[in-house]
Amino acid sequence: MEYKFCGKSGLKLPVLSLGLWHNFGAIDDFANSRQMICTAFDKGITHIDLANNYGPPPGSAEETFGKVLKSDLASHRDELIVSSKAGHLMWNGPYGDGSSRKSLFASIDQSLKRTGLDYFDIFYSHRYDGETPVEETMMALVDIVRQGKALYVGLSKYPYEKAKEAFSILKENKVPCLIYQDRYNMLVRDVEKGLLQLTEEQGSGFIAFSPLAQGLLTDKYLHGIPQGSRAAKESGFLQQDQVNEPVIAKATRLNEIARQRGQSLAEMALAWVLYNKRVTSVIIGVSSVGQLNDNIDTLNNKNFSTQEIDLIEDILNQ
Ligand code: NDP
Repeated sequence: MEYKFCGKSGLKLPVLSLGLWHNFGAIDDFANSRQMICTAFDKGITHIDLANNYGPPPGSAEETFGKVLKSDLASHRDELIVSSKAGHLMWNGPYGDGSSRKSLFASIDQSLKRTGLDYFDIFYSHRYDGETPVEETMMALVDIVRQGKALYVGLSKYPYEKAKEAFSILKENKVPCLIYQDRYNMLVRDVEKGLLQLTEEQGSGFIAFSPLAQGLLTDKYLHGIPQGSRAAKESGFLQQDQVNEPVIAKATRLNEIARQRGQSLAEMALAWVLYNKRVTSVIIGVSSVGQLNDNIDTLNNKNFSTQEIDLIEDILNQ
């Protein structure tokens, strides 16, 4: 594994992190979830990305992680970076959703209980909720750190102007934003319009979620929607209409370039995100140890020639 400093901080993160959004809930096979977490750790993926609502049902991915921590990883706590988040709908009533101080404090306590951890390494505001003043959310994050419930804080999915405001409040209060998390992959590149640059200017790291566009940037959907895939599952967030002709046409052409590079499309898509020097790490989601191993093989070839980059750009612009 390779490790990279997270922005201007002293914390190093593995360039591949493991996300527990899908495939680690109570509906999933625990033995498989355990094997994926333990294999990832054995291969140097020291960073696990959670959120209060990951499951299904919500909360159960944190419970799965808590079980694996207890049975396999407890003695390795100091070798692990565990992240969680609050901000999306988690429980009924006015305090189970959004980014108020009340919600964040209640949520982190619940998340600590579910995982059995004493503290999170990174705690995120999962989103700007459009209503709570940014200052309220940021001061809650600052106090979460001051109370020892988390070591560092992060932001996810903030609009540019709100992110700017949030970065500066955190900085003023000496709890700088460690890391900014947003969607970034070959098909969705919104963060290139300013947020990536902003994170660098602010000394924050950047971590990409859904680097494979939930599986669209793999060879999985090139010939239809396979049984058991995220698009086929009722609980999956990837909708079947997202597996459409223009996307598959792009994936097919990209797959050809990947083959010429001697790697899978998944490997090339991850390498492409990591090729951007502003990216600290990519959070991969996997449903099997086979996929995990494939994705780790990305590290065998992360470089691109200018010709390859141009060719990929042509395909993406079509
Ligand atoms: P990806 O884009 O990496 O998609 C993961 C899916 O792609 C897997 O479940 C699998 O699909 C397929 N896949 C992965 N590797 C391979 C491979 N080598 N070959 C073929 N198929 C493969 O990431 P996610 O969308 O899962 O997001 C990653 C993480 O990011 C989440 O777990 C979460 O931690 C974080 N996240 C954060 C969000 C936020 O709001 N901050 C929002 C979304 C995600 P299949 O299951 O069909 O096999």
